[in-house]
Amino acid sequence: MTEKAKTAETIIVGAGISGLALASFLRRERADASVLVLEAGATAGGAIRSFQGDGYLTEWAPHGFLDNGAESDELVDMAGLRGELLQAPLKEYVRYLCIDGRLQLVPQTPPKIMLAPLMGWGDKIGVVARDIFRPYFDGEPSVADWVRRRFGAAMLPFADAVYTGTYAGDIDELRIDGTMPALRALEKEHGSVIFSILARIREKRKNAAAENNAGKKRGIPIMQNFKGGMERWPLALAEPLQAAGVLRLNTQVQTVQREGDEWMLHTSQGDFRCRELALALPINAALALLRASAGLPVPEIPVPGVAEARLANVALGFGPEAQIPFGFGYLTSKKEGRFALGALFSSHMFPGRTPEGGQLLEALVGGRRNPDYLDLDDEEIIRRTLADLRGLMELPAEPRFAKVLRCVATIPQADGAYLQLLRWREAAGQACPRLHLLGFGWRGIGINEMAREAKALALKLLGRAEAESNVLKGVYV
Ligand SMILES: Cc1cc2nc3c(=O)[nH]c(=O)nc-3n(C[C@H](O)[C@H](O)[C@H](O)COP(=O)(O)OP(=O)(O)OC[C@H]3O[C@@H](n4cnc5c(N)ncnc54)[C@H](O)[C@@H]3O)c2cc1C
Repeated sequence: MTEKAKTAETIIVGAGISGLALASFLRRERADASVLVLEAGATAGGAIRSFQGDGYLTEWAPHGFLDNGAESDELVDMAGLRGELLQAPLKEYVRYLCIDGRLQLVPQTPPKIMLAPLMGWGDKIGVVARDIFRPYFDGEPSVADWVRRRFGAAMLPFADAVYTGTYAGDIDELRIDGTMPALRALEKEHGSVIFSILARIREKRKNAAAENNAGKKRGIPIMQNFKGGMERWPLALAEPLQAAGVLRLNTQVQTVQREGDEWMLHTSQGDFRCRELALALPINAALALLRASAGLPVPEIPVPGVAEARLANVALGFGPEAQIPFGFGYLTSKKEGRFALGALFSSHMFPGRTPEGGQLLEALVGGRRNPDYLDLDDEEIIRRTLADLRGLMELPAEPRFAKVLRCVATIPQADGAYLQLLRWREAAGQACPRLHLLGFGWRGIGINEMAREAKALALKLLGRAEAESNVLKGVYV
C-alpha cells in the first residue's frame, strides 16, 4: 500500500532565512496556521553558516546584516536573540577604498564624501552637474552605462567597489533597474539622484532626532551579528518549527504538480499536498525545480537562469602586532587589479571572534571579477591574499590562523536575464496565483530584503496584503 500524502494548507520549500521567516511570520500571525517547511539539507539556514575553530569565529557567507530592516528586527525577537545581538560600534564606522594601491578613507556621509579627496574637484563638479542636468536614462542600462551617463566615468571605480561589496558582481553586466530600483524611481521622479538622496537623509535624521535615537541620528545603518555568529539566527528560528513538526529536514522536493485545486509535491521523503506553494529558493534553484516539473500552468521560463557569483572567505587571524587600520574594512575596484576584492576588519566590528588579544581579518576572493582564483588550492589562495594585504597594511610574517571558507551558496546576479525573469515571475503569479516565488535573488540579495518579502507574503496568504514599495537599500559591506 502506498503511503498517503501528508497535507498542509501552505508548503514552503527551503529552510534558508526566507523559508524560516515566512513560516515564523505565518505562525506568529496565526498560531494554528497549517504550514510545513521542507528542506533538502540536514540543517536549516541555507547560505547562513558560521565557522568556529582554534578559538576563531568567522562566517561562510553573510558577515552581518544592517539594522535598518524592520522585518529583520522582528525576526530577531521572534528568534529570542535580542540579548545575543551585537552591533558594530558606530563611532568606529570607517571604511576604505583601495585607490591607486592605497587605502583611502571614505567618510560616513554623502556631503563629507563629496568633500573628501577621493577624486579631483573638476571630476566632483562634473558629477554633480551631470546629475542635475542629465535627463532620465531610458531603457534597462547596465550599472556601468548608467553611472557613466548619469555621473561620468570618474564615478565608475566607486560604483564598482559598491557592487563588489554586495553582488561580488560585474557592473558591466548588472542592471541598475535590477539592483537599485528605488534609485531609478528617484531619477525618474526628481531628476537629480544626489539631491533626492540628500533630501531623504535629512528627513530620516529629522525623524530619528524626533525619536531621540542617538545612534540613528546620524542616519547611518549599523552592521549587526550575533555572539555565536550569524547561524544562531536561522537555527533559533528553526528550533520551534522543528519541535512543532513544521520543519522537515533531509526532504528534497524533486517535482511539483498541479492536481485540481491542489499542489502535489514529490520528495525524497514521500508525497505532500497543499493549496499554497511557496518556493523560498535562490532564483536558479526555483527554476530548476519548476523545469523538472512537467505540465505546470505557468508561462514558459524565458531564459536558462541568472549568472551567479561564487566567493571564498579567507579568514586570517593575527596577534596584536598586526597593523590592521582603524575601521571596518575596505573594497577595491576592478581597475586596481588586486587579488582580493576587499576585506573586513572583523575583530574591529564584533568582539569575541578571536582568542584573547587576537585580531581577525576576512578577505573576499573570487566573485564575477575573478572566478578563476577559486580554482587555486587553499595554500595558494592564502599566500596570494597575504601578499595582496601586505601591500596595504603591515602584517606579521605568518598569520596565527588561516582558513579558506569556500561558500557553496552563490550570489544571484541581477543581470539582463534577471529583468526578464522578474517579468516572468509576475506573469506566472497571475497565471497561477497559488504559486509563490520568494528568496535569494528575486527581490534583492540581502537578508533584510528576504525578511521583508517573507513578511509581505505571509500577510498576503493571511488575506492582509500591504502595498509593495521600493525601498532605498543600504550597502551591507
Ligand atoms: C557569499 C555570500 C555573502 C553574503 N553576505 C551577506 C551579508 O553580509 N549580508 C546580507 O544581508 N546578506 C548576505 N548574503 C545574502 C544572504 O545570505 C541571503 O540573502 C540569504 O541567506 C538567502 O536566504 P534564502 O533562504 O532566500 O536562500 P538560501 O539561504 O539559499 O536557502 C535556500 C534553502 O533551500 C534549500 N533547497 C534548495 N532546493 C531545495 C529543494 N528542491 N527541496 C528542498 N529544499 C531545497 C537549500 O538547501 C537551502 O537551505 C550573502 C550571500 C552569500 C552567498
